Amino acid sequence: MSREAELNEADEKTFAYLKEHPKGVLQSDLWKAIEVDSRTCSRILKKLEDAGLIAREETKKDGTRTYLITVVHTSQAVDPSLLMAGEYIVPCVACDEECTVEHCKMLEDWIYELVFDELE
Ligand code: SF4
Repeated sequence: MSREAELNEADEKTFAYLKEHPKGVLQSDLWKAIEVDSRTCSRILKKLEDAGLIAREETKKDGTRTYLITVVHTSQAVDPSLLMAGEYIVPCVACDEECTVEHCKMLEDWIYELVFDELE
């Protein structure tokens, strides 16, 4: 199954809940939080795992085996237009200076350009 393919409403709701908890959620807590029975929760998690959207790591809670469920993060392509202020590319792309973002004149000039470009 491809990522995010054929997810139903319960799958989407579960995935959204997991994304809100970046440190992970124990499976033994998850089914209660999303208000489904544990068997349904297992089916949803299997589907999300097969789609490569989550990872399950075996763990224990109060001596009982369960899984820590975390969302798998993948790098996404950056929209190149976000690097541009008018015709000027963000200076950080080709910068070999000692970086001090708070005091960088090059970045400050680029941000002004970005603001002016947005106002036009
Ligand atoms: S903030 Fe300034 S110094 Fe830092 S990488 Fe960008 S251009 Fe270079």
